[in-house]
This record gives sequence, C-alpha cells and structure tokens, in this order.
Amino acid sequence: GARLAGKVVLVAGAGSSAAGWSIGKASCVTLARQGAAIIALDADLAAAEDAAHEVERAGGKALPVQADVADADAMQAAVDTARGHYGRIDVLQANAGIGKVGGPEDIDLADWDRIQRVNVTSLLIATRLLAPLMRAQGGGAIVTVSSIAGIRYTGYPHLAYSVSKAAVIHFARMAAQQYAPDGIRVNTVIPGLIDTPRVARNVAGMFAKDDLEAARAARDRQVPMGRMGTPWEVANAVAFLASDEASYITGTELLVDGGLTGK
Ligand code: NAD
Repeated sequence: GARLAGKVVLVAGAGSSAAGWSIGKASCVTLARQGAAIIALDADLAAAEDAAHEVERAGGKALPVQADVADADAMQAAVDTARGHYGRIDVLQANAGIGKVGGPEDIDLADWDRIQRVNVTSLLIATRLLAPLMRAQGGGAIVTVSSIAGIRYTGYPHLAYSVSKAAVIHFARMAAQQYAPDGIRVNTVIPGLIDTPRVARNVAGMFAKDDLEAARAARDRQVPMGRMGTPWEVANAVAFLASDEASYITGTELLVDGGLTGK
C-alpha cells in the first residue's frame, strides 16, 4: 500500500514565494501521492491555497491554512483548525524559511531577529503544540528543513540564515533525544543547491543578464553531480523520513546535495 497511507502531515511553509515548484509545494504533492492527507500551512493564504490545489489536482486531500509560523497564537489556532478537520496530526514538515544576504556588519538587528524567529523559534512553537498530540497518538515524526549553509560557507555572506540553519539541525537533534521515548522521531533534511523559484530569482538579481548563463553553468559545475537538485528530490527525502520505513532513524540529518558537502 501507499507508504504514508492514513497519515496526516502538516507542511509549514507549504507554498512558493514565486510561481513554480518550491520544496514545500513539491513536498505536499509528493507526500499526498504516497497517501498522506495534507495540511498546507503558509503565511500567505494564496500560497497555501495554491499548494492545496496542486495536491487535489494530483488526486490527494489538502486543507489550506493561513498562519505565520513565528506567531504562537496563530499556530495554536491553525493546529486546532487542522485537528477539527482531520482529527489527528502525525507528521510535521517544518519547511518555512527566510533569509537575507549580509555579513556581521550588514545585517539589521531587526532582520536578524526575524530570521531567527521564523527559522528557529518556529520549531519550538510547533513542537510544543504538536508533540503532546503525537505522544497521545502513540508517536509521530518531525522533519525539519535546514540548508548546506547551516554546515559550510557557501561562497557569499548569508550570516543570519546560515546561523539559523545550523540551529535547525541542533534543535532537531535535541528534540529527538527528548521525544524518543514517546515514539516521536525528529530528523532534518539538508538541501544543497535546489532549483526553486526563489533561488532562480536570487541568482537573477546577482548577475547581469549576459553573465547569468555563465553564473548558472559555474554553479552547476560546483556540484559533483553536475547539476542543481530539484524540489522533488528533496521531497522524496522528506517522505522517507516521515514514513515508517525510517522507524529506527531519529536525531540525524539526510543531505540532499548531489555530493557537494563531501567535496
Ligand atoms: P520558498 O522560499 O519559495 O517558499 C517558502 C514558503 O514559506 C513561502 O510560500 C512563504 O510564504 C512561506 N513562509 C515564509 N515565511 C513564513 C512564515 N513566517 N510562516 C509561514 N510561512 C512562511 O521555498 P524554498 O526556496 O523551496 O525553501 C523552502 C525551505 O527550504 C526553506 O526553509 C529554505 O531555507 C530551505 N532551503 C531551500 C534551498 C533552495 O535551494 N531553495 C536550499 C536549502 C534550503
């Protein structure tokens, strides 16, 4: 049968910040194809509805919910809505993430705080809401989404984001210890260079039009596999960690980077 049949998955940051397939949206569709019912949560209602629509187009079930992952009251209300609809929540994919380019002397304190709040404090907010439900249900899984920027310098200053993504990994490791006796597994996917609309837009903003193709080719050459990854390839890793096939896996990370980190 389908690997995620009967499971209800909350994808936080389910939409895409630009037209196309983000990691969150591709995850919603991938998990639904494997049998999961989806809660497509996003701060942007239109983005949540777009993700839910794609799930339905793929033959799955999805509930769009608007909430800011950094807002504890809004997340409580979202979880209440989702439970009212599906009756349970088995998996959290903590996918929402923001960043801003800059080093120690460039970043505003307010931007720094917001990035840590959305990328890291959101994990605390969601975990303390969902872990009691998962414990009462006899178990569950949390998959956090870090970045290779959280483990290595990626060639340009992205300090607030990078520090937050390192914290994502350690949050998951610590939570895994805390919740192992409850049957709640906590793991992280670490995407490398992934071909999403956000990355395409960032790169387009950094180079003149004539240099763009050369910049893209240089970026692809950096990766041992010779290309960027797709959001679908990240989604497949999330699906595995969310599933019972990963039943003895907790407190660890799965790199999805085409060999880049090992280079
Ligand atoms: P994206 O940035 O295009 O979309 C993210 C979605 O999250 C958007 O729909 C946005 O509205 C939503 N969001 C942002 N802040 C939110 C908040 N406070 N509350 C609720 N929703 C919020 O998606 P992406 O580029 O696929 O990135 C998804 C995740 O993967 C992020 O955590 C990102 O850091 C991580 N990641 C991406 C790449 C990449 O190459 N794209 C690489 C490594 C890691």
